[in-house]
Amino acid sequence: MKTRTVLVLGAGIGGISAATELTKLLGEKHTVTLIDRKPRFYECAYNIGIVSGELSDPAAGEGDYSALKSRGIEFINADVRNIDADGMTVQTTEGDFSAEFIVISMGAEMSPAIIPGLSGGGYNIYEKNGAVAFRHEIERIKEGRVAVLITRTPFKCPAAPYETAFLIDSTLRKKGIRDRCSVDIYTPEWQPMLAAGNMVGDGLVGMLKKREIGYNTEHMVLKVDNENRKILFETDDAGYDVMAYVPPHIAPEPVRKAGLVDSTGWIPVNPETLETKKQGLFAIGDIVSIKLHNGVFLPMAGVFALQEGIVVAANIASRLGFGDEERFAGGGYCFIETGEGKAAMGSGNFYARPAPEVSFEAPSEEHKRTKDEFSAAILDAFRSID
Ligand SMILES: Cc1cc2nc3c(=O)[nH]c(=O)nc-3n(C[C@H](O)[C@H](O)[C@H](O)COP(=O)(O)OP(=O)(O)OC[C@H]3O[C@@H](n4cnc5c(N)ncnc54)[C@H](O)[C@@H]3O)c2cc1C
Repeated sequence: MKTRTVLVLGAGIGGISAATELTKLLGEKHTVTLIDRKPRFYECAYNIGIVSGELSDPAAGEGDYSALKSRGIEFINADVRNIDADGMTVQTTEGDFSAEFIVISMGAEMSPAIIPGLSGGGYNIYEKNGAVAFRHEIERIKEGRVAVLITRTPFKCPAAPYETAFLIDSTLRKKGIRDRCSVDIYTPEWQPMLAAGNMVGDGLVGMLKKREIGYNTEHMVLKVDNENRKILFETDDAGYDVMAYVPPHIAPEPVRKAGLVDSTGWIPVNPETLETKKQGLFAIGDIVSIKLHNGVFLPMAGVFALQEGIVVAANIASRLGFGDEERFAGGGYCFIETGEGKAAMGSGNFYARPAPEVSFEAPSEEHKRTKDEFSAAILDAFRSID
């Protein structure tokens, strides 16, 4: 059994944020160990650039974990198999570890197999290869029905499927074939980006209407009939020629097996400190469930995972005698790319009472630039500081 002060499980946006901040606060006195089963980081937000045609090589969204060493982080490429919360130990393919503090940031797992016919029937735009193949299909299409299918809630980046629809519309218009194609979104939601409230929801619905994008709410897919190009919902069905989909999300198996999830399927935490019921065990990012004051859950988004990582790092460092505690206050923003180099923005306080206070700003080039800067800033963690 190897012993560490802090183990961070999952080197995605939340894990890298927590580990980077921890090494800054703790200096060389303590070892911060970051574990991920993937050998390289990939920032999913780049999939939207692939769908729009702005990016052709997913390598632009990759980071090399070996660069984290120069920041004092110990990176271990291993699969986490078991988490023993009571014993504060973790079993991995590279051995067992115990730690005084554990931060779980293992994200959400994609599970297309839950829906029969889904993976053979369309393109998973939440995976980089799926995004690349879907873009090729959109470039090839001359006429027909394009569907964007949201299979289940919750899903990460609630804006992403809406961005996808706008970007398809924009591409088809540029090709001069929009009048020969239909674009439809199918979703179990009754409003886009539920947690962001009515102002954002109404703003988006208005934009979809203006762009003649069909918006089919409360559609829960049961299966996809690939042969006949049909999506079968609980109440009706819809034909399509090309389909992009957001797969169902589930918590990674070791987290479910450890009994850490509640009836939502995700890990409950204190909304301000991100600590679980077990002292010293924290969870951040997509894997947590934080119920907002209007009964909706905090969206799965990198902007929250990033801030939560910083808060958790401060709280762990403070218990080790370095600096003050911090609280996550629920502030956040998200961008919705709409094509033509523009993005709309929703921003505000998701912890506000009695409901989140999130404003909506119309598409602009400035918001698109800020979105690109946010994505680039995430990859800054991989710049060597030797
Ligand atoms: C298409 C798309 C566009 C997006 N755009 C935006 C955006 O513009 N703005 C925004 O704020 N958010 C965006 N997001 C959402 C954002 O990417 C996620 O919310 C964010 O990555 C969550 O961070 P995380 O650390 O919780 O999880 P992740 O970043 O998913 O990291 C989890 C890590 O855990 C690792 N892991 C899982 N299981 C194991 C295991 N058993 N052993 C070892 N390692 C394991 C994984 O390999 C992974 O590296 C987008 C997402 C998608 C899909």
